[in-house]
Amino acid sequence: MAETDSRRHPASLAFDVGAATDRGSVRELNEDSFLAREPVFAVADGMGGHEAGEVASRLCIESLADEPVLRPGRRTVTALDVILAVRRADLSIREATGALAGTTLAAAILTEGEDGALAWLVANVGDSRVYLEFEGEFSQLTEDHSEVWELLALGELTPEEARVYPRRNVVTRALGTGFDADPDLWTFPASPGQRLLVCSDGLTCELEDEQIAGVLAEHGDPQAAADALVAAALEAGGSDNVTVVVVGVRTGDDDGAPAPPLPLSEG
Ligand code: MN
Repeated sequence: MAETDSRRHPASLAFDVGAATDRGSVRELNEDSFLAREPVFAVADGMGGHEAGEVASRLCIESLADEPVLRPGRRTVTALDVILAVRRADLSIREATGALAGTTLAAAILTEGEDGALAWLVANVGDSRVYLEFEGEFSQLTEDHSEVWELLALGELTPEEARVYPRRNVVTRALGTGFDADPDLWTFPASPGQRLLVCSDGLTCELEDEQIAGVLAEHGDPQAAADALVAAALEAGGSDNVTVVVVGVRTGDDDGAPAPPLPLSEG
């Protein structure tokens, strides 16, 4: 049966990655951190004075990178693994900073479903974001944990008011603070032609979604797209640290076959 065969032999996929970060024009430090290698594409936006935010976001990313199930080559992570990994990251930050620092976390993580097909697990705590560009559509996958997002959802602010709302940087969930650190999770199949954008609010507080979509559409190469997005945020004011990870999905070259052995030396 063709369907069974395609499940047993899912098309191999390849991932092209770009990442860029900048301190911005106003902040003294860059308190954003990121991880951009299979199977984890993540951005953490630290908060807290005196370098504490920098420590919090770095510990968050280091903690994820150290998870055995999230090491390069692994594609078996489950939603429960992600929840536990976020809890461990939360704990490591609280222990290191005395809950005086926090960080957001937005992540897109590759995993293999039971049918062998690759899927994305998207996780979010705070107001960093994951967007999906696919077949000409550009949409935010995550929902912000922020005061302004909640007021928008309640209809108590218009989008125009939200843009200048004085407490628009206040998040309602964060890692490391001792408050709610549970991630929201989403999952969907990975397919050729998708591009995922993971970013800190230094991008989205400067640029409208349509502007972000426009810059992405102009740059097919993920690194060129990441560089152009950071440059556009700086040009628009750069009032915050800005971090961007772009992942493009395409059909793999090897059709699932193991890579041929490489010669150990030339000539
Ligand atoms: Mn920020």
